[in-house]
Amino acid sequence: MPGGLTFRPSANIAEMRESATIAVSQRARALKAAGREIIDLGAGEPDFETPEPIREAAKAALDRGATRYTAVDGILPLREAIAGAANAAWQGTDRVTPAEVVVSTGSKQSLFNACMVLFGPGDEVLVPTPSWTSYYEMVGLARATAVEVHGDPARGFKVDPERLSRHATPRTRGVMLNSPSNPTGAVYSREELRAILDLAASRGWWVISDEIYVRITYDGTAAGALDVAERRDNLVVVNGVAKAYAMTGWRIGWTVSPLPVAKAMTALQSHTTSNATTVAQHAALAALTLGDPVERAVRAMVDEFRARRDAALPILRAAEGLTVLPPEGAFYFYVRAPGAGSVPDAGSVFATLLLEEEGVAVVPGLAFRTPDWIRISYAAERSQVLDACRRVVRATEAMVAR
Ligand code: GLU
Repeated sequence: MPGGLTFRPSANIAEMRESATIAVSQRARALKAAGREIIDLGAGEPDFETPEPIREAAKAALDRGATRYTAVDGILPLREAIAGAANAAWQGTDRVTPAEVVVSTGSKQSLFNACMVLFGPGDEVLVPTPSWTSYYEMVGLARATAVEVHGDPARGFKVDPERLSRHATPRTRGVMLNSPSNPTGAVYSREELRAILDLAASRGWWVISDEIYVRITYDGTAAGALDVAERRDNLVVVNGVAKAYAMTGWRIGWTVSPLPVAKAMTALQSHTTSNATTVAQHAALAALTLGDPVERAVRAMVDEFRARRDAALPILRAAEGLTVLPPEGAFYFYVRAPGAGSVPDAGSVFATLLLEEEGVAVVPGLAFRTPDWIRISYAAERSQVLDACRRVVRATEAMVAR
């Protein structure tokens, strides 16, 4: 074509921004490839190998011929295992059935499926803020409006029914929940979760409960929505194998939802990815059903995350001018950047300085709609995490002294 065609983003993506969590890690990778020494504490990706019994099960499944399409919503034994786990939490008489489970290519796709089928133009969705960057974008891609509900920093940025109600309008259609939280590591107590679920049920809002970090907690267990909800006809629970089982690259997530929602998400997925990769589904099945050998590996990983948190937290806290939220779950430190309050977008300024001068990659809080903060992932080798925290302290002190 003469002169070529000018690309103008369609209305679908006109407002969309690329994932900042992914972008930070790509930048870190590029800098490393160019020869710079970088400690990448950007994306939250466990640094462990997928436990061996899971890898062996996947190899065996391949050899048995797990190479073809499956049902769009996933293989039945995997959906049965997921429904079984949901029923261990859910005590209502309406048992969760495998037909209410949709397996996808990662919990990110499950969240996207849910946003697309539940929300549309004119709808508002309450997003406790800070939240994972992709919630805002996914709600936007559904052409709905993400309404930021800022939590109280003194409570790990958690929100409560009163704060949510203040932002509700007649157009409110749903609320996103995430406990343990990315990026803050905050965990909602059973009572806190129950109060929000009760509010949503009484207002007729959908709840999308992202429980991808639910197995990574340090001081007891975290409740999931099905553990405490009174009803589940407005509930979509999202989970996957990526974080707990160190299976990020396998790309397996799922939803547990009422049947009509599951059917709609399956229909949507039938036009996008079809089934999640077959062999990866078999690997996820092994993760959920092999029991002891896998559970031991999960416990060891959580113990290591806890050890990193406990070793790194005092280092960060010793720095003057740095506020750090103590994480109760997930694997992130949420840190108020030096200069916050006086420098606009202090988190991005500090993140850039950390990368350029200290060789440490972190995610600016702007990605989570709180620009005064940065997120430091400690899903990296312990000595690297501690080294990076010392560099963060050094950079902070240099800034404060300026
Ligand atoms: N969820 C992880 C994070 O927040 C992985 C990257 C992504 O998908 O956003 O860093």
